[in-house]
Amino acid sequence: MDTALNLINITLEYPDGDSTLKALDQVSLAVGAGEFLALVGPSGSGKSSLLSVAAALIRPTSGVVTIAGQEATDLRDEGLTALRREKVGIIFQQPNLLASLTAVDQLLLADHLRGKPLAAARRRAAELLEVVGLGDVAGKRPHQLSGGQRQRVNIARALMGRPAVLLVDEPTAALDHARSGEIVGLLREVTDEFRVATVMVTHDTEFVPLTDAVATMRDGRISARQPSGSVPSRASS
Ligand code: ADP
Ligand code: MG
Repeated sequence: MDTALNLINITLEYPDGDSTLKALDQVSLAVGAGEFLALVGPSGSGKSSLLSVAAALIRPTSGVVTIAGQEATDLRDEGLTALRREKVGIIFQQPNLLASLTAVDQLLLADHLRGKPLAAARRRAAELLEVVGLGDVAGKRPHQLSGGQRQRVNIARALMGRPAVLLVDEPTAALDHARSGEIVGLLREVTDEFRVATVMVTHDTEFVPLTDAVATMRDGRISARQPSGSVPSRASS
């Protein structure tokens, strides 16, 4: 397997009064290109912390993070920012889109910030909006889109830079059941089509069958990582 994201023995401590709180405790996790991994576990178990470390948004207290073959923990801040911009797509629960920009401009802005030429960015943006099913609404602003459509813009934007790793934190928390299934299905599709290593934090095990594997966190540790087929999904009636 072509490992796109590799976390080795990651420990992350936050300051906590006079002592420290261990949010991640010797966590190791490898995710391959084209692999879709669900990360589940109770609130406070360290899921978001793990994504932040994987995104090179925060440095772990110890351990090694490798993104697309490059060791992030070796880099100084500028190098880390560049690696994140070039190789990591991040999707949070609330699509933090800019209110004044159309869907296509949200994507173009992302590439502009990367210093990419506009003509290529326009082609890429149009192609991605088609992929996420928003070809018809490229000219609409966030308030003219539904919650599900806004999350689709968010996904397309995260893919603009051709990331190797896609990190998704509770993407369906603000959506109803049908929209949630569509969004997870879309994440499955783009993981396959663009061969990204996708890690999705989810509280809902119902969509786990759309993923390849599921890792369970508890108290800052990964207690299990297994093929998703071996995890029973919630019975639907
Ligand atoms: P989850 O996403 O699984 O709910 P988090 O990664 O957000 O878990 O949190 C793991 C632990 O780290 C929790 O005890 C939380 O209170 C703590 N924590 C998270 N972020 C911070 C922070 N910025 N500063 C201090 N403690 C934090
Ligand atoms: Mg969280």
